[in-house]
Amino acid sequence: MPPLVQLVRPFRSARTWISLGVLAPVGMLVVSGLMLFDLRQDAWDKAEQTSKNLLQVLERDIARNIEMYDLSLRGVVDNLKAPGLAQVSPELRQLILFDRAATARDMGVMIVTDENGDSIIDASTVPARKVNYADRAYFQAQKAQNNLGLYISQPLFSRLLGSRMIVLSRRINKSDGSFGGIVLGTLNLSYFTRLFDQIGLGPDSAINLYLRDGTRIMRHPYAEADIGVNIASAATFKGFLREGSGSFVETSVRDGIERHYTFTQVADLPLILNVAISAREIGAEWHSNAVVIGSIVAVLCGLTIALSLLFGRALRRGEAMQAELAKLSLTDVLTGLPNRRAFEGAGDRAWKAAQRNGKPLSLLIVDADHFKRFNDRYGHQVGDAVLQGLARCLSASVHRPHDLVSRVGGEEFAVLLPDTDQAGACRIAEKIHAEVSTLVVGSAGIGAGDVTVSIGLVAALPTDTEIVALTDLYRFADAALYEAKVGGRNQTRCARPQETMAGLHMRLLQVVGGS
Ligand code: GH3
Ligand code: MG
Ligand code: MG
Repeated sequence: MPPLVQLVRPFRSARTWISLGVLAPVGMLVVSGLMLFDLRQDAWDKAEQTSKNLLQVLERDIARNIEMYDLSLRGVVDNLKAPGLAQVSPELRQLILFDRAATARDMGVMIVTDENGDSIIDASTVPARKVNYADRAYFQAQKAQNNLGLYISQPLFSRLLGSRMIVLSRRINKSDGSFGGIVLGTLNLSYFTRLFDQIGLGPDSAINLYLRDGTRIMRHPYAEADIGVNIASAATFKGFLREGSGSFVETSVRDGIERHYTFTQVADLPLILNVAISAREIGAEWHSNAVVIGSIVAVLCGLTIALSLLFGRALRRGEAMQAELAKLSLTDVLTGLPNRRAFEGAGDRAWKAAQRNGKPLSLLIVDADHFKRFNDRYGHQVGDAVLQGLARCLSASVHRPHDLVSRVGGEEFAVLLPDTDQAGACRIAEKIHAEVSTLVVGSAGIGAGDVTVSIGLVAALPTDTEIVALTDLYRFADAALYEAKVGGRNQTRCARPQETMAGLHMRLLQVVGGS
C-alpha cells in the first residue's frame, strides 16, 4: 500500500474523528489555560513593577523635603550657638536663624522654645507668637532624651494655624549640655495629600504613610478618619517592620480588601511608605481578557466536538451503508440466500481451509426438475414461490454453522458442506429430497411430491489430484447432476473425482446412450 494512502487511512474511520473531536478541544483547553496563566502572571509582574516605581518616586520626594526641612532645623540649632546672637536685634536674629525653607509651601510654623516650652523666637513674626508646647509629646521626648536627633510627631492640629500637620523637632542644648528648649517646624499634611493625589490609582488601591510606631500619617484616597489611626498590630504592618522593604499580598485590616503591598522605609527616617494595589484591580484587565478568551475557546471546543461528532456520525452511516451494500451484493433478492458471488467467495475459502486441515469438502448442486413447466403452467410468480419454497427446504436440510446454501442460478442451488465426506453429503442429499417432497404451494394447487430436484454430489479430499480449485469441484458436481438428470431426475448422483474427466464423460455417454 502506498505510504500516503496508509497515512490517510485512519482519517476515514469514524472513531478517529470522534477521538480527534475530544483530543483537539482538550489540547485547546490546555494551551489556552497555560496562556491565561501566563497573562495573569504578567499582570501581577506589571503591577509589582509599577508599584515599585511609584514607591521610589514618592519616597525620594518625601525624604528630600524632610531632609531639607531638617537642615533648616539643624541650622537654627547651630546658629543659636553663634556668639553675640543675644545682643542683636530680634529682627536680625530672625534673619540669622531661619533660612528660606521656613517659608516654603506646606511649612506651617518654625519656632524656637525655651526649656519650659514657651515660644521665644518665631520664623514668621517678631515678636514671637505666644504659645506653650510643654504638653506636646515631641517636646517631652526631646526634653527626656539628649540625643534623639530629628523627632517626627504624630499627626496633630496646629495650635497657631488649626491645620493638620506633623511636627519635626530638634533639641537645643544650653552651653552646659542641659535642656534648653526645642526648635520645631510644622509640615502640613496637605503636602502629602497633594503628592499622593498626583498618582492615579483605582478606588480600592491606596498609598499609606506610617510612623514606625504604626500611626498612619496619611492615606490616599484621603479619609479624615484614617489619619492618626494606629495599625501596629496588623499583619500587614508587622510585615513592613520585619522586612523593611519588599512586597507581599495580604488582606487589609482596614477594609478586608486583598492587596498587593509594596513598601519601604523612607530614607533613614522613622517613616514607612507603601503602595497597596487591590488584587481585584490587578486582575480586572486579565479577568475580562480571560472571559473573552475563555468564551472563544469554549465556543471553538463546542464547535469542534459538534463537528467531529457530526462527521463521525456521517462516516459511521457511510460505513453502515457500505456494509449493507456489501451484504446486498452477496444476497439473492428472491430467496434471501447468499448468491453466486457469495458462494464463490465462501467456496474458495472453504476449499483452502479443507486443504489446510486435510478434511473433506462436499458440494451438492441442486436443480429443480422440469421447472420450466411450473412457469409455463402456473406463471412466473408461482415459479418464484416454488423457488422460495425450495430455498426453505434446502436451508432446513443443513444444520452446521459452516454449511452454506446458496442460489447460484435460476432454479439451481449449491450446498457447500465443509468437513463432510461422501456418506455425510449423501445423507444431506436424502434430507433435501425428503424436504422437497413435502413442498406445497397451496395457492397454485401444487401439492406434496409435485416438485422434485436432481442433485449432483461431489465429496472431495484435499489429496484428490484432479481437484485443484473450487471450479474443479463444481465441474464434477455439475457432471454428476447431469448424470442425475439423465438418470431420470428426482435422484442424486455422486461424482468420483478419482475418475478422469475423460472416463467420466465416457461413462456418461454410455448412460445417455443406454437411456
Ligand atoms: P430440467 O429438469 O432439465 O432442469 O428442466 P428445467 O425446465 O428445470 O430446466 P431449464 O434449464 O430448461 O429451465 C429452467 C427454467 O427456470 C427456465 C426459466 O424460465 C426458469 N427460471 C429461471 N430463473 C427463474 C426465476 O427466478 N423465477 C422463475 N419463476 N423462473 C425462473
Ligand atoms: Mg431444472
Ligand atoms: Mg437448470
